Amino acid sequence: MKLDIIPKILEEAVENISQFPGYGEKSAKHFILNLLHMPRGEAFSVLKNLYDVLDKIHPCKECGLYTDKELCDVCSAEDRDKETICVVEESFDAYAIENTGKYKGLYHVLGGRLSPLEGITPDQLNIDSLLQRIEKQPVKEVILATNPTVEGEATATYIYNLLKDKNITVSRIAYGLPFGATLENADDFTIAKALEHKTKF
Ligand SMILES: [Zn+2]
Repeated sequence: MKLDIIPKILEEAVENISQFPGYGEKSAKHFILNLLHMPRGEAFSVLKNLYDVLDKIHPCKECGLYTDKELCDVCSAEDRDKETICVVEESFDAYAIENTGKYKGLYHVLGGRLSPLEGITPDQLNIDSLLQRIEKQPVKEVILATNPTVEGEATATYIYNLLKDKNITVSRIAYGLPFGATLENADDFTIAKALEHKTKF
């Protein structure tokens, strides 16, 4: 007779983590095994840290950047160039750009990219809030820094079409980033070059 030997809570944990896009059952099992192999004290501090992330991190009410404050450090800084907004897919892209030390404007985090395959449509991204910011702030330039992937390009084109008749310069990062790359994984030099050589959209 066959025994159902996997504990129910373990099975549920695999199922829960498998739901993350790009994870699947195999990665979920790896993640859980890694935790179980760790000394319990360390594993619990990893979980405590994740708990704190969920508890304290939320999108900046202005730009959508993940922050532990109401307004992120960029939006609340006095010396940023408030006429330039750099549009990125995710907060980690903005952190990577900021790491280069070359960008002094504001950010706007879309919270993803258009993806017909994954069913991600414009209304699921922070595009309306971008248009609202442009209406109420003296924005002169929008830099579309979505990733140079098929989805990132489609997202940039979609936003460009919404902005092209407004009196602002719309540019696109290009140089230095190979097609298919992601900002999050690019080095500082490559990102700095990509910004430096941005082109008019
Ligand atoms: Zn902000």
